[in-house]
Amino acid sequence: MTPMIEFEDFTFKYRAQMEPTLCDINLKICPGEKVLIVGPSGSGKSTLAHCINGLVPFSYSGEIHGTYRVKGQDPSQLGIFGLSKSVGTVLQDTDGQFVGLTVAEDIAFALENDSVPERQMHDRVQQAADTVDVGALLIHAPGELSGGQKQRVSMAGVMVSDVDILLFDEPLANLDPATGKKTIALIDRIRNEYGKTVVIIEHRLEDALYRDVDRIIVVSEGRIVADTSPDELLAQDVLERCGIREPLYLTALKHAGCRIRKEDHPSHIETMDPVNYRQQVQEWFAKTEGRQPESARDEILHVKDLCFSYTENIPVLENISFSIGKGEMISIVGKNGAGKSTLSALICGFYEPDRGSIFLHGSDIAKLSIKERGEHIGAGHAESQSDDQQAHDL
Ligand code: ADP
Ligand code: MG
Repeated sequence: MTPMIEFEDFTFKYRAQMEPTLCDINLKICPGEKVLIVGPSGSGKSTLAHCINGLVPFSYSGEIHGTYRVKGQDPSQLGIFGLSKSVGTVLQDTDGQFVGLTVAEDIAFALENDSVPERQMHDRVQQAADTVDVGALLIHAPGELSGGQKQRVSMAGVMVSDVDILLFDEPLANLDPATGKKTIALIDRIRNEYGKTVVIIEHRLEDALYRDVDRIIVVSEGRIVADTSPDELLAQDVLERCGIREPLYLTALKHAGCRIRKEDHPSHIETMDPVNYRQQVQEWFAKTEGRQPESARDEILHVKDLCFSYTENIPVLENISFSIGKGEMISIVGKNGAGKSTLSALICGFYEPDRGSIFLHGSDIAKLSIKERGEHIGAGHAESQSDDQQAHDL
C-alpha cells in the first residue's frame, strides 16, 4: 500500500537558519492512520506540518535533502494548489484562517476556487457544517463565534474539499479543557466515519489522548526520537527526557515509586489496570506525612463515616472520613460518577446522609438548613455554568 505521507532521510534547513530544523526524518504514515506528533516548543513540529501541506518549500524556502512524498507524489511537482486537494490543515490560530464574511462563505471558499456549481456548493457546505455541528451558524460572521465553534468552522472548511489527510497543528492551544475534549472526539469521529488519515500535532498529550491514536511520534531538536504505540511510549521515559508533560496520573504513580508497564494500558486512565500499582501507592501513602498548615492545625470541617446512596442498595459514598484544617487547599479528584459532587452536595445540605456526620468547627451540622450552612460554606457548582466557562474557571 502506498503510504499517505513518507519521509526518507529527510533534512530541511530554512533559508534564514544556520542549522537544519529537521534532520534525518524517516516517517511513514499509512492511509486511515491516526498519528499524534508531540515535542517541545521549537522542536520542529510545525515545520514538519509545513512540509506535509506544502508551505515548505512554497512559502518558506530552504534546503531540502532526502525525499518526501504525499500520496506517493513529490510535493514540489504537485505544487501548493495540488497539495491542497489532498491535505487540509487546521491551525491553532483559526482567526487567521477566516476569509469569508459569513461562516457559509468561509466554508465555501475551497469550492469557489474549484468553480463548483452553486446548487452543489450549497449542499456540500451544509453537509460539512452539519458534520461538525455548526450547521445552524452558517449566516453568522466568524467573529461572533466562540473559540470552539471557530475551530469547527475551520474543520468544515477543510472537510468540504474532500481531502484525504487532515492535519491539525496544536488544535487545542486556544481551547479550554472541555472544548478541547469535544474537538478530540470530533476529530476521532471524522476519522472513523470518513476514513481520513489524521495527523495531530499537540503538546497537550493527556488531552490529545482523550481518544485513541494509532501511534505517537516524538520530535526533539528536529529529530524523531520515538515512533511507537501510546501504551509503549508511556511506559518509557522518552517524554520526561524531552521535557513533554506526560499524563498527570502517570506522574503521580511514578512519584509514588511505581514503574509503569505497557501491559496495563497506561494511555487511558479509565481503562488502565490499577491492580499492579495499588500496593506500591498504599505503601507510599502510609509512609508519607501529609503537609500540615504552618500554624498548629485548626480543624474546620470534619466528615466522619459518611454514607449515601440515591437508590437503595447502590451505595455512592461509603464510610467517607476526612478533615480539613484552616487555610488548607484540598482537591477532591475522581472519575466521572465517583461521587465528588454528591459529597459536596451533602456538605452543603442539598441531600441528607444515610449515615455518618459532618462537623463544622466541631459542631454537628445535621440540623442546619442549606441557608445556615451557606453562611459558612461557599460552594461553586459546575452545572451552573456553560461547559466552556466551567472548564475555564476550574
Ligand atoms: P514547533 O512547532 O515544534 O514549536 P517550529 O517548527 O515552529 O517548532 O520551529 C522549529 C525551529 O524552526 C525554531 O528554531 C524556529 O525558530 C525555526 N523556524 C520556524 N519557522 C521558521 C521560518 N519561517 N524561518 C526560519 N526559521 C523558522
Ligand atoms: Mg508549532
